Amino acid sequence: MKKKYTIVTYGCQMNEHDSEKISWLLENLGYEWTDNKEDSDFIVYNTCLVRENAELKVYGQLGALKDLKRRKPELILAVCGCMMQREEARNVILEKYKHVDIIFGTNNIHKLPILIDRHKQTNETVVDIIEDTRDIDDNIEANRKYSFKAFVNIMYGCNNFCTYCIVPYTRGRERSREPESIIKEIEQLASEGYKEIMLLGQNVNSYGKTFDYKYTFADLLKDVNKIDGIERIRFMTSHPKDLSDELINAMANLDKVCEQLHLPVQSGSNRILKAMNRKYTREDYLLLIEKLRKAIPDIAITTDIIVGFPGETEEDFQETLDLVKKVKYDSAFTFLYSTREGTIAARMENQVPDEIKKERFQRLLDIIYPIFLEKNQKYLNKTVEVLVEEVSKNNDEILSGRTRTGKLVHFKGTKDLIGKFVNVNIDAAKTFTLEGYLV
Ligand code: SF4
Repeated sequence: MKKKYTIVTYGCQMNEHDSEKISWLLENLGYEWTDNKEDSDFIVYNTCLVRENAELKVYGQLGALKDLKRRKPELILAVCGCMMQREEARNVILEKYKHVDIIFGTNNIHKLPILIDRHKQTNETVVDIIEDTRDIDDNIEANRKYSFKAFVNIMYGCNNFCTYCIVPYTRGRERSREPESIIKEIEQLASEGYKEIMLLGQNVNSYGKTFDYKYTFADLLKDVNKIDGIERIRFMTSHPKDLSDELINAMANLDKVCEQLHLPVQSGSNRILKAMNRKYTREDYLLLIEKLRKAIPDIAITTDIIVGFPGETEEDFQETLDLVKKVKYDSAFTFLYSTREGTIAARMENQVPDEIKKERFQRLLDIIYPIFLEKNQKYLNKTVEVLVEEVSKNNDEILSGRTRTGKLVHFKGTKDLIGKFVNVNIDAAKTFTLEGYLV
């Protein structure tokens, strides 16, 4: 009987892709996937630390597994990801969840097979964390969720130290993969039939800054654009301070780079942007939006917005509302500021009371949702190219996929279209999705 494994993933695309790598490592050790923990012989929690409740959820789940571990003592339980990069969280696990067997981090996924051996030999809890590293392990492959679109890491870590963010402490300093290794990986993916690539990094715009030779993110896009078989290139996440004219030109002139950009603004107030250590002003940001729309008229722009950052006044918030009205985003991830222990902002005075945060948050949604709908209504009676991704969760006669601008489209179709490009005529627009029929 093949042993079975389960991975529970929290957080961002970086974590999703790390879980694809952990899955590849475990299948190479002879395990096979199950999504039923009761049947599992190896359970991994790949954790996120951006939000408090993500952490609490993990503790809750580990507590719930105590009984299963008692009934299946040979079950191996591992915890990894950003949460484990923090000593405080590791100590909670070691003190309160002694049934956890392996603890590893974000910088040493490649060591998992060794850590499993060490645990089996000692029957002790194995803890292996690399606090900060300049190393990059390029040799781990990934069991990718899709067979036609793929995440590809281009860099790790972040040097920006936004005051609300824990990532620089959990993912270390910025380090870029060598372009040859990225190109080789994508050429391999293209030969396997992959059509869409999502280039991943905390701040992809600063790709190449650690090299002792000049090679920028725009250069990488140009080289990826040359790869036969790849038809769409996306990337995430971009920091406005590093969005250069060179990059905007590359996005405008490279045919495979999709007309979509996620450009987190976080706040519309210069006073708050300074307190966040974002290193740009609202004027800088609005100028970037102007340049982007001039170079790529149909570009879809999405963003991240934090409401209720410490010290945020009604005037500051009005500036955020004013900015979103000016930019007219296609969509946005919106967050109520929550203190993240270990960040500078968590120690700031003037924390905004929850009821004020929630009231402002609602006012923000009341303004941006109608804008999302208005942007989507521009697609009505238009035919768009869609890469079909999956069967809709609620109705298996309905397929879903995305346009080059990242719009989620639902339409009737058969499963054999998954992984293919189709043309869909849009006959309905909603706040977050489009609907249409095949043409
Ligand atoms: S750019 Fe800022 S928000 Fe993004 S990962 Fe780096 S520190 Fe965090």
